[in-house]
Amino acid sequence: MYDISDLAGRSIECDCGRRHEVLIKHIEVESGAINHIPDVCRKLFTGGSALLVADDNTYKAAGAKVYEALTNHSLDTDICMLKRPSVEYGADEMPASQPGIASPWEPADAIATDERSIVRIMVALKPDTSFLLAIGSGTINDLVRFVSSRTGIPYVSIPTAPSVDGYASTVVPLLMDGFKRTVPGTHPTAIIADTDVLCNAPSSMIAAGFGDMVGKLTALLDWKLSHVLDGEYLCQTSFDMMNSAVQKCLSDPSGIRQRKPDAIKALMEGLILSGVAMMLVGNSRPASGSEHHMAHYWEMMFAQKGLEQPYHGAKVGIATPVIASVYKKLIDMDETQIKALADAYTPISPSTRRQRIADAFGPLADEVMAESSSVWLPEDEQKQRAQHIAQMWPAIREALLSSVPNPGEIKHLLASAGAAHSAEHINVDASLLQQTLLNAMYIRTRYTVLRLADDIGCLQDISSIIAKEALHQ
Ligand SMILES: [Zn+2]
Ligand SMILES: [Zn+2]
Repeated sequence: MYDISDLAGRSIECDCGRRHEVLIKHIEVESGAINHIPDVCRKLFTGGSALLVADDNTYKAAGAKVYEALTNHSLDTDICMLKRPSVEYGADEMPASQPGIASPWEPADAIATDERSIVRIMVALKPDTSFLLAIGSGTINDLVRFVSSRTGIPYVSIPTAPSVDGYASTVVPLLMDGFKRTVPGTHPTAIIADTDVLCNAPSSMIAAGFGDMVGKLTALLDWKLSHVLDGEYLCQTSFDMMNSAVQKCLSDPSGIRQRKPDAIKALMEGLILSGVAMMLVGNSRPASGSEHHMAHYWEMMFAQKGLEQPYHGAKVGIATPVIASVYKKLIDMDETQIKALADAYTPISPSTRRQRIADAFGPLADEVMAESSSVWLPEDEQKQRAQHIAQMWPAIREALLSSVPNPGEIKHLLASAGAAHSAEHINVDASLLQQTLLNAMYIRTRYTVLRLADDIGCLQDISSIIAKEALHQ
């Protein structure tokens, strides 16, 4: 395991041939870390005043203590309190969908990453504001990251829940006119996470963070797959860093459920490290693959129908054993079986694809088409692609065989952590599950196991088998 605090500010001349920079200057995940904030801020920023951004709940959870620590050290600090109460810290906020499982649902009244919240922060800025403090989980960090990038005022991230891997991220999923788009933001100058605060976070948020970490198992497989098959850039240092962080998080799932400080610390470090790994390679490849595409698909479908949203990490956690099943079904096939599939492959015409996307995405079809059509192969090249995969199959199998996780074991890990682990926990039935497997790959251009299954013409069969299996579990 890499020591996360040692990684901060490092410049790494890497074996992958690139030079990696960790632009975050200070990373700390400790008990009592809030007390170190004034010293860290004095070292990193000079003069001016601080603007602390929180909501009612995160202010109670950590903001008040941070404010007190800063003002005790004579640091001039203003508060921007975002309205609309989010989840309540320290309480078990939502009814569980099933005994022993934390609720996968996001509270409907949570603060949105939208124009309104951004303006609230902008209005609270003073001419001498020299740094921002984001006190909260995903949303507040997203908002502050956006404001920081547009104003050039640096920020410190003070996570209040180990719920997402976006703390070290540089992009912002922004809701504008009701549509979600990803816009550039900037990284925090420091991340200071107090495990005393994190251990008190709502169980649904801790479970969601664990689900997002579990997702790295298949994200890493997709990365390796694309590297072996198509030579996509893979940094082994980042890959190993991510892998060891995941293994550490997964080593004590019941410690997560019991909120043991060591387990919660490992989870938070793993989530931060995911962000650092993305920063090292310059994209989200180390942390996001087909399990995330499935989660995005569900998000779009739920939003379209105006349904309640599960937490991002809950969706990712549930999708991960499903993707592991896809891997398992493929990896169980030998060279001859894959060759037979490639020989029988029937090309898909662009009009058929367009129709499939129109049927699956409805009003969002044009946007999806614009995103994904660049990677569709012309009909005459599709057969060659299938044959190429058949030729490469022994190498792919050898590279992946030992790391394809058992889907049942992943479910068990999630269940032990008290996290949602089955499609039915978020009301996804067999038919939607099959639709998800068939269409999730259209959301992004990134190569994943779902596109591989499509490239050799077995995605339809695999998705229908998995959907049927899900019914009988
Ligand atoms: Zn994620
Ligand atoms: Zn590298």
